[in-house]
Amino acid sequence: MNTLYLANEQAIVNPNVLEWTDKITNLAYIVAGLLFILALAGLSKQQTATRGNKFGMAGMGIALIATIAKAVVNSINAGDDSNGPLVTVLLIVVAMLLGAAIGIPRAKKVEMTGMPELIAMLHSFVGLAAVLIGINSFIAPDEESEAIEAFHLGEVYLGIFIGAVTLTGSIVAYLKLSGKMNGKPLVLPGRHLLNLAVIVISLVGMGVFIAAGHENTTVAWIALVVMLVLALFLGFHLVAAIGGGDMPVVVSMLNSYSGWAAAAAGFMLANPLLIIVGALVGSSGAYLSYVMCQAMNRSFISVILGGFGGDAAVSDDREYGEHTEVSAEDTAEMLKNAKTVMITPGYGMAVAQAQYPVASLVSKLQEQGVEVTFGIHPVAGRLPGHMNVLLAEAKVPYDIVLELDEVNDDFADIDVVLVIGANDTVNPIAEEPGSPIAGMPVLKVWEADKVVVFKRSMGSGYAGVQNPLFFNENTDMLLGDAKKSVDEIIAAL
Ligand code: NDP
Repeated sequence: MNTLYLANEQAIVNPNVLEWTDKITNLAYIVAGLLFILALAGLSKQQTATRGNKFGMAGMGIALIATIAKAVVNSINAGDDSNGPLVTVLLIVVAMLLGAAIGIPRAKKVEMTGMPELIAMLHSFVGLAAVLIGINSFIAPDEESEAIEAFHLGEVYLGIFIGAVTLTGSIVAYLKLSGKMNGKPLVLPGRHLLNLAVIVISLVGMGVFIAAGHENTTVAWIALVVMLVLALFLGFHLVAAIGGGDMPVVVSMLNSYSGWAAAAAGFMLANPLLIIVGALVGSSGAYLSYVMCQAMNRSFISVILGGFGGDAAVSDDREYGEHTEVSAEDTAEMLKNAKTVMITPGYGMAVAQAQYPVASLVSKLQEQGVEVTFGIHPVAGRLPGHMNVLLAEAKVPYDIVLELDEVNDDFADIDVVLVIGANDTVNPIAEEPGSPIAGMPVLKVWEADKVVVFKRSMGSGYAGVQNPLFFNENTDMLLGDAKKSVDEIIAAL
């Protein structure tokens, strides 16, 4: 019988088995890759999103089974008398159990409003994995990698760099999104030069690392550790420099970085599926960041370089005068007399879980002949598409849920706008140059005849900026929990 050798010098009992495991695994990877592409396509529309998720789950199931089965078969086939296969299976089971023990309760507990910080935390794990895989791959390269030493070292260095940036960037995003760290932008002197210096030193380090390689490991390790520290700093600095209202773009940007980190890990592990999935996540995340930048009127390049808009952060301690309050009963009366009503929901609707009574209110108004539409801001809530998801959950028909671009010129024709738990996304101060949210397009609700704002206090929104809308003559504040207020309006109707 022909004898093959694995990287760890174990004799392989049957080379045919190795060949067939490879063939079957690759086939499974192609199927999984196709399912992931279908998943992304499905996720692009609300109507097909559930189906898209199912494709994604099926793809991930196939990928996991194929990868684990390959590891087990190869391990059995390695033919040593020790406990190799058993240890492989045990290690996989222990790792999966550990992951499940941490992940399942966390995912069950998380509120929809806490999703961005959970996602940010998960991105940091991808970054950490890429760093660890990179270090491991340098310490113990496999046979194929040894054959292409310089190329492999480049992969390792880049993988660790991207992973480290993703790791600290995601941790800062998690801390900011969960309110554990101040949302104000950190503006260090010469911050762009600082970032540039880190990138230049890291590039030089890459040359040193590749030249030293496994011949001169001390020098290689020094180059690697210096770059690791710099990349960890860069990740921290890129995200810390971004202010509160611009965090949505950061979330999608880190999503993209985590994809590239996974792709880098795929190269290091010579795993084609990880490369495909990483590239899919990386490029779709980059495209989402681009779309979000357009929605927020920000430059894509300055987002990638970090810290856009930070310089404009100025404090606003102006006095806006008195606001007027309205009761739920009076709001019901106002709605009865209206012909056109537009609802602009925001983060507060998600916190109050008011989407269900809002859906009932819409049906009730429609029964009474009132024309109701929704105006959705692209960054309303705490997730891209957050409001659309909530409204779909409450079975609000898709055709009355319109995007900012579709409604922003129509407010003058609207009798009553109900601002339900939104704040930054309807803040007219965005139109003032120099304000912290300057340039961000907002829903021009103030152009309607009457505006009723549902919130609990006169406090500011996520960006921490006071909202002059609340003090307009045609604005009434309906203070209290949004769900309770909508319930009371329905009762009064
Ligand atoms: P905001 O975060 O600006 O404001 C939400 C308002 O809801 C608050 O002012 C709060 O006021 C009110 N609220 C909270 N709980 C309740 C409740 N139970 N009942 C009634 N009102 C409530 O929301 P927007 O959706 O307008 O804007 C989203 C902001 O989040 C933007 O700045 C965006 O950049 C940022 N962001 C968006 C992300 C995304 O991907 N969509 C991700 C990260 C950040 P009060 O406390 O007085 O009740």
